[in-house]
Amino acid sequence: MAGLASIIEPMSGGRRPRDPECVFCRIVASELPSSPLRDDDCLIAIRDIAPGAPTHILILPREHIPSAADLTEGDGPLLGRVFEVAAGLARSEGIAERGYRVVTNVGTWGGQTVDHLHFHLMGGRSFSWPPG
Ligand code: AMP
Ligand code: ZN
Repeated sequence: MAGLASIIEPMSGGRRPRDPECVFCRIVASELPSSPLRDDDCLIAIRDIAPGAPTHILILPREHIPSAADLTEGDGPLLGRVFEVAAGLARSEGIAERGYRVVTNVGTWGGQTVDHLHFHLMGGRSFSWPPG
């Protein structure tokens, strides 16, 4: 059966080139060590190096997409996979029942420090709203 990446590719108009300077591209390519919790044809999930909650996992598309501002309708299947994986990880981490947060930061004022699209899955404590 065709992997999700090959389904996404024609819909999003082709894959974006990887950025050799990008830390998350280097993790995806195994140039930097990591211990993925999930690793499939279109994304990986790793623990955040500086956790801001008892559970803090990053879900990274394999493709170098700079931020959520670069997503298009054709990325719908990828986003569906991201949230499906987030929900599965929340269950396996034991944070699903009490609730958790999935967030992606965009740009400087949004708090983005790595310009490769990623989703923070955070749980194990309560969060305030609006965020600081
Ligand atoms: P953001 O600030 O939303 O761009 O999130 C970037 C996140 O990546 C931060 O929470 C960092 O702690 C995390 N991070 C940066 N480098 C690494 C790394 N090598 N492995 C795991 N997490 C990282
Ligand atoms: Zn990248």
